[in-house]
Amino acid sequence: MALTGIQIMKLLPKKNCKECGFPTCLAFAMKVAAGQAEIDQCPYVDPKVKEEIAEATAPPIRTVVIGTSETPYKLGGETVLFRHEKKFENPPLIGTYLNTSMEDQEITRRIKAYQQLRWERVGNLLKPEVVCVRDEGNGERFITLIKRVREELPELAIVLDSRDIETVKQAIEACGGSIPLVYPGKVENLSSWGQMALEKKVPLVVSANYLGELVPLVEGLTKQGLKDLVLDSGALHPKELFEDLVIIRRAAIKKRFKPFGFPVITFMDRYTGDLSEQYLLASIFVAKYASIILVSDLKAELLFPLLVERFNLYSDPQKPLVVEEGIYPINGPDAFSPVVVTCNFALTYFIVSGEIEGSRVPCWLLVKDTDGLSVLTAWAAGKFNADNIAEFVKRSGIAEKIKHRTLVIPGYVASIKGELEEELGGWEVVIGPREANGLPTALKELAKKLRS
Ligand code: SF4
Repeated sequence: MALTGIQIMKLLPKKNCKECGFPTCLAFAMKVAAGQAEIDQCPYVDPKVKEEIAEATAPPIRTVVIGTSETPYKLGGETVLFRHEKKFENPPLIGTYLNTSMEDQEITRRIKAYQQLRWERVGNLLKPEVVCVRDEGNGERFITLIKRVREELPELAIVLDSRDIETVKQAIEACGGSIPLVYPGKVENLSSWGQMALEKKVPLVVSANYLGELVPLVEGLTKQGLKDLVLDSGALHPKELFEDLVIIRRAAIKKRFKPFGFPVITFMDRYTGDLSEQYLLASIFVAKYASIILVSDLKAELLFPLLVERFNLYSDPQKPLVVEEGIYPINGPDAFSPVVVTCNFALTYFIVSGEIEGSRVPCWLLVKDTDGLSVLTAWAAGKFNADNIAEFVKRSGIAEKIKHRTLVIPGYVASIKGELEEELGGWEVVIGPREANGLPTALKELAKKLRS
């Protein structure tokens, strides 16, 4: 049963000391109940009570952690069905396979793909994060492959796919400091695998032939003491998988049905051999509700859109994407290069910086913190007006980097020109274009003028 804020409050030491980062114990209790703070933030709670509260306030989908301590990957931990209710917490890991039957050349190609397929977007790195190493009856090569992954792709999370429990024990050792996810498939001796997972402290995938069959299997393992499980419903058709994943999420969140309160692993190659179709299916399960998605190969043109979709779905809908306030030099500017000021809404920044880059005009881009609001909205909210732009320009240190005193402002806030010149004292404020695509022409002209 979930605890209310008042129930949690009763279990707190009531010192109101603020050490948890909240002004009162009650404020902290409310945040813990809402899942927005961790009970560990209060240093004075009795460890037994702490465990009780942590259990009662844990997300309905358990958070299972794999990977290394430097690069941990959280699976599950979700609290809602829909993104508009609250942010989706932990994006599904996306990756492919290394099989023991693959030629060395193919293994090398796949490892290179992992190393090369990465893109930066709005300050975030988009890349595949998981590899499923598949033992096709060659334990020795299986271990060799794992060692190679650890050496050449140390940041990757590893799924160990083998039916041989002894080989998997060795494979876990070969993972070194990285916690792998063990995938034994549908096995008769699941309790032995459970025992092994308990001893080795690794999470285990529970596979079934159909959804209903999962329940007793999960209950058996949890009775054994296993907490970190990942589900594989065994669906043989994408429609069935879609239904299973929705049922699992709804049952866990709406009914607090414990056997389904775990992350889910999915295998797109189970449904089609066509790689494009696998990525299309993957795009469905990014939204509904996979925690690991495996496809049979990594291809830049298919992977990039999938990673962008995932990035967008797992961003916080209540927080605009922002870039840090500061001076951004573009195209190698010097003391005579134009200075442009804009807001820190990520989309605005990337459009403006993209146009400046494309213009090849060396330029200083000043990005002012507007709490992620776009130019006009920030101006209307009083976060991008003459006063605070002038204060920012003075504090930014741009004056020490340039020999002129000319500042380009967005055309949408042309009305602040006079007041801004007054506030800045000695600067000329130039009204830039309303749309960023007008910047290249405007900057080329201004750059010539500043050097003449
Ligand atoms: S640290 Fe603990 S005792 Fe102090 S205010 Fe927070 S909840 Fe209360």
